[in-house]
Amino acid sequence: HQPKPFLLAVEGLTVSFDGFKAVNDLSFYVEENEIRVIIGPNGAGKTTVLDLICGKTRATSGKIEFRGKELTKLKENQIVKAGVGRKFQTPSIYDDLTVFENLEISFPRGRTVFGALTFTRDATVRDRVHEVAEMIFLKDRLDMSAALLSHGQKQWLEIGMLLIQDPDLLMLDEPVAGMSVSERAKTAELLNRIIKDRSVLVIEHDMKFVEDIAHKVTVLHQGQILSEGTMEKVKNDPKVIEVYLGH
Ligand code: ADP
Repeated sequence: HQPKPFLLAVEGLTVSFDGFKAVNDLSFYVEENEIRVIIGPNGAGKTTVLDLICGKTRATSGKIEFRGKELTKLKENQIVKAGVGRKFQTPSIYDDLTVFENLEISFPRGRTVFGALTFTRDATVRDRVHEVAEMIFLKDRLDMSAALLSHGQKQWLEIGMLLIQDPDLLMLDEPVAGMSVSERAKTAELLNRIIKDRSVLVIEHDMKFVEDIAHKVTVLHQGQILSEGTMEKVKNDPKVIEVYLGH
């Protein structure tokens, strides 16, 4: 049997800020169609790991291979083009545009080679907008101003704006923060829809949600892996219990 190739392989990743190693010789691997959750106390290095993958922060050493392509030397826009989408905590939707327009403007420009075939292109964009809107539970809200959406709907819209670019890896920072119980359940459903043809890497503090969604959990502590595996395994790991409850 051939082992399944990894979508993302992080190996020996280190970044120092004035000699302080925020991420220290970190290695982890994300498979295709996987929901991976990174947890860990404040300051563990979670955000820095996502910053390194999307090229916002440069690694001091180590490598990040994505579909076999080395990312550490690429610029942020090249990493997006390689298929990595990142949603930040602060929403970046356009309040004065409709849901449809927010999705439409996020469609990658320059993807249609035959620019002269405007009709074909528009139809493609429209189809894709409808497809994504359905996925993010907003197909009945396409003409609504984004400003009128609930907090949770705004978060889904922003996820939709990334999905329309068809990334192979979607990185989300605390996707259910501030959401209602029903919005959280639907977000779990959304993530399970998303991973049908891509993978998701999530930073999350809400352990109930982690339990609901994670295929595998990576516990970070002081820039290194403290524990890794199923939620069941890591939550019973004495090292994890000590970091979360100990002192
Ligand atoms: P987490 O997301 O797990 O809370 P972070 O990745 O934000 O942790 O931060 C990890 C550590 O790295 C913290 O001690 C933080 O202060 C430090 N850090 C992060 N970014 C920088 C930076 N640009 N310059 C200096 N220190 C930083």
